[in-house]
Amino acid sequence: MTICSTAKNISTDKPAMFRKKVLDWYDVHRRVLPWRALEGEQPDPYRVWLSEVMLQQTTVQAVIRYFLKFTEKWPNVHALAKADNDDVMSNWAGLGYYARARNLHKCAKIISNDYDGVFPADQVALQKLPGIGDYTSAAITSIAFDKPANVVDGNVERVMARYHACKIAVPEGKKALKEYAALYADGFTKRTGDYAQALMDLGATICTPKSPACSLCPLNGNCVGYRQGTPEIYPLRAPKKERPKRYGYVYHVTNKQGDVLIHKRPEKGLLGGMYGFPTSEWLEDEGGLEHLELLGDRERWIKNDVSITHIFTHFHLTLVLFSCVISDKGNISSEYEWIDKVGLQKLGMPTAFKKALKFFG
Ligand code: SF4
Repeated sequence: MTICSTAKNISTDKPAMFRKKVLDWYDVHRRVLPWRALEGEQPDPYRVWLSEVMLQQTTVQAVIRYFLKFTEKWPNVHALAKADNDDVMSNWAGLGYYARARNLHKCAKIISNDYDGVFPADQVALQKLPGIGDYTSAAITSIAFDKPANVVDGNVERVMARYHACKIAVPEGKKALKEYAALYADGFTKRTGDYAQALMDLGATICTPKSPACSLCPLNGNCVGYRQGTPEIYPLRAPKKERPKRYGYVYHVTNKQGDVLIHKRPEKGLLGGMYGFPTSEWLEDEGGLEHLELLGDRERWIKNDVSITHIFTHFHLTLVLFSCVISDKGNISSEYEWIDKVGLQKLGMPTAFKKALKFFG
């Protein structure tokens, strides 16, 4: 095992004792969350899967509202499979990482049609489904089916990094943190779902990123980071590279009736399949920007002297806002649609476009 060399000889709890401490703590302090089965209830794999997909790179707080909305509209996998794709995308708007929504809908159709609505209970079969990778398959296997799996999210990584004072900075250190987690998860066959959720809860509520409440932690007796006195420095992080910048134009086009032109983005690529305002290309070189040839008459664009910014995972975007009113519906390609103002306000759009909508009104 290639775990952090500096912590190899440090005395920590044996796996059984470690799990007991974590589970005893969980039995008293477990979080109640809308997708979780209450004590004594059977978990619903549909709700576990839906929540785990939503929680990929998104906080619990942000997910709760979306989870409740989705489960009210589509209470089971058959209902979600039958949903209109635009409706799914629109209800996902604002949650980000839109490939997740596309894969969610594809996966629901496969489970509904090919698996008769029953999620497979093993990681290999789960990973063949769209949008389900290593982490999500482990979480579903253990939480929904109480089967052994090493479930390692950001919370678990943080606990492992501090408990073992891992000296390998992430992202490179993620592998070592997973190996540490496996020391406790491997071979454990009882209450595996509770154990996975217990470690997540411990990381989310006690071993928090900035100020861990070590005096309340069931692991403090043998936590190396705590003993060193500076647990909050873990996980160590490699210096961040500056996000590249990109620039573009975004357009508010209205006709005489006050309808607004919207654009359905191509299925593949950033914000794929989502509705937004028409935009130019997004380039790293601001000087290379050219107006979208939408109407064949660029003189009609009115610059608003306003720009919005939005941070994507891999770049920082600045969009300059332009407006234009046209007298007729013009000869506009089929990826664009007119929508009235009421429909526009109700339309689910990604956050970058919602920022523009706030200005355009
Ligand atoms: S003792 Fe502190 S640093 Fe160690 S696992 Fe518990 S909360 Fe985290």
